[in-house]
Amino acid sequence: MKITVVGTGYVGLVTGACFSEMGNTVTCVDVDRKKLENLERGILPIYEPGLDGIVKDNYKNGFLLFSDSLEASMKDASIVFIAVGTPPKEDGSADLQHVLAVASEIGKCMNDYTVVVNKSTVPVGTAEHVTATINKVLENRGAEVEFDVVSNPEFLKEGDAVNDFMKPDRIILGIESKKAESYMKELYSPFNRNHDKVQVMGIKDAEMTKYAANSMLATKISFMNEIACICERLGVDVENVRKGIGSDTRIGYSFIYPGCGYGGSCFPKDVKALIRTSRENDFEPTLLDAVESRNASQKNVLFKKIVSKFGSDLSGKSFGIWGLAFKPGTDDMREASSIVLITSLIEAGATVRAYDPQAMGEALEYFDPTCLKEQRLILAQNQYDAVTGADAMVLVTEWKQFRQPDYKALQEEMTGNVIFDGRNQYSPEFVKSAGFHYIGIGR
Ligand code: NAD
Repeated sequence: MKITVVGTGYVGLVTGACFSEMGNTVTCVDVDRKKLENLERGILPIYEPGLDGIVKDNYKNGFLLFSDSLEASMKDASIVFIAVGTPPKEDGSADLQHVLAVASEIGKCMNDYTVVVNKSTVPVGTAEHVTATINKVLENRGAEVEFDVVSNPEFLKEGDAVNDFMKPDRIILGIESKKAESYMKELYSPFNRNHDKVQVMGIKDAEMTKYAANSMLATKISFMNEIACICERLGVDVENVRKGIGSDTRIGYSFIYPGCGYGGSCFPKDVKALIRTSRENDFEPTLLDAVESRNASQKNVLFKKIVSKFGSDLSGKSFGIWGLAFKPGTDDMREASSIVLITSLIEAGATVRAYDPQAMGEALEYFDPTCLKEQRLILAQNQYDAVTGADAMVLVTEWKQFRQPDYKALQEEMTGNVIFDGRNQYSPEFVKSAGFHYIGIGR
């Protein structure tokens, strides 16, 4: 099949690359020319395990193309994916300007039957807006072209995106046309061989499924963070409680890790957008509000612990931060807990040395260049360089390489002896026996 994927970010590039891997000819379209030029030279805009090889091989073999021309890419394409960003607006609602701009462009370029697939996470009712936008453009052109709009939300996780795309738990198709259904089922058939993972439903149902899934996962995290706060005040170890409740098959072990808050480009914005949708439809989303506000507090939890240990004036103190990305396996720092912590530490007068295995380039985008120039924030060469002269080491992102530190090296590099474990990765007893003071979350 010939496919166009508009938007070459985390979702668009993985989608395009994985469909090209199955023998389809895929053109990835973006407005960012620099990104496209780099991709043609084999330089990927994001870090995602396994993606590099698939992109380079398929580009070389002609299955994967990059273009800034939607018109050229759509010449023979029967399916066009919209995979552009839907960032939050000030009021929390999803900003649909990129999605609708693409819809309008599609309307201008479409000449034969096309399945227009919304892969971006969009509020319920967006497919109707996309349809209306395309119809308006066609009307202005005086053209009559048949098309269907499909909702196909994406459930990949950054850090394991290729694997998730290649072996999805489910493929949700919000479709109300038999013709579009046959195109989409054919396209997904290589990913659907082992057993039927395709769930066909109404378009609005599919749009809502994505928000409900992300809100459920965010709720699990915020719930466990709340339990951790209560445990801490009662002298209870939340890690024992986590294992105790996780063994109940009705609860399960996944997504109940307490920590220093969730970030990323999806959970924060999708919970906010669902809150907004809910209010717009006269329903007070008390639970989602609580999920959101618990997470906002949780992002401050490490800073509060640091202040209660060292006092509110942190001038002259130095902290070594391990991890900047919002989670391991990605270079993405959107809404990362590290940003809140580092900003607060610097504001309180501290010096910060930070290291992340993949997000060092990204970090330049998120912090005030003056802080970097004045060396109030130093981007370190490696994890042990980050703790040089530090009063404390603070684990923020649980990359594998941070899981079993060389405590001797930490002792040699650090001037202090405190470890703040923002992800409960370490055994408090072992850390204490290695000569450090241990402070975790809810234990
Ligand atoms: P991203 O910001 O990484 O990429 C978006 C891309 O779209 C950028 O390269 C941008 O240049 C391009 N773009 C913007 N406007 C354009 C236009 N008019 N024409 C062509 N290209 C344009 O975004 P992302 O993380 O891939 O997310 C895309 C969507 O998928 C969002 O709605 C997001 O919520 C959803 N989603 C993301 C993830 C994730 O883990 N990142 C997972 C599931 C769903």
